[in-house]
Amino acid sequence: MPPLLLFDIDLTLIATSGAGRLALDRAFERITGVRSATEGVPFDGRTDRAIILEILRRCGSPPSRFPDVCDAYLDELPAALREKSGEVLPGVYPLLDALARELPGIGLATGNLRAGARAKLGHFGLWHRFAAGGFGDDHTDRAALVRSGITALAAALGAPPDPAEAIVIGDTPLDVAAARAAGARAVAVATGRYSESDLLAAGADAVLASFSDLDRALAALLG
Ligand SMILES: [Mg+2]
Repeated sequence: MPPLLLFDIDLTLIATSGAGRLALDRAFERITGVRSATEGVPFDGRTDRAIILEILRRCGSPPSRFPDVCDAYLDELPAALREKSGEVLPGVYPLLDALARELPGIGLATGNLRAGARAKLGHFGLWHRFAAGGFGDDHTDRAALVRSGITALAAALGAPPDPAEAIVIGDTPLDVAAARAAGARAVAVATGRYSESDLLAAGADAVLASFSDLDRALAALLG
């Protein structure tokens, strides 16, 4: 049975150089009038739903404004992506090409809103590479979105939705913890704000410095 691979997006596949935070600041200013609303709010490994609900609380706005903030954020995101000079991380294109030759499909497990994930990956021409995923629209708990992603990817590929066959790839200790909580294996890549030793300590089954070494990356993901 080929593995179900589910990738995180930010600092795993791409770096948007703060475009997401910029778009969210602009969205909160439009909806609540509060400037720099995201200041001091950690994003790493969290879901957009959890982040937006926390900032609404900080702004003294009710959670019922969640859909309005999402709409404004998705409206602002394409321009923010164009303004910031983000990049696809080293080794990602060759890795995705190699996986496309080896597997019937791959998926996403990301805290991004689905439409935000489409905007970010679409900006770099990568959205079509993913068959299905779990997203941050409905979940504040990352393990729940990992479970959704496994179910969605398995359905897209006609495979059993077995977490034991799933590998979640991410850059934060929260990505690793969510994978483990969902019953999946965790492969971590130290291209974000966490070191290889941080990610090993979080319980990752394997840790890569980056995807630059294609043979090592394929060995970790395909065994
Ligand atoms: Mg990430």
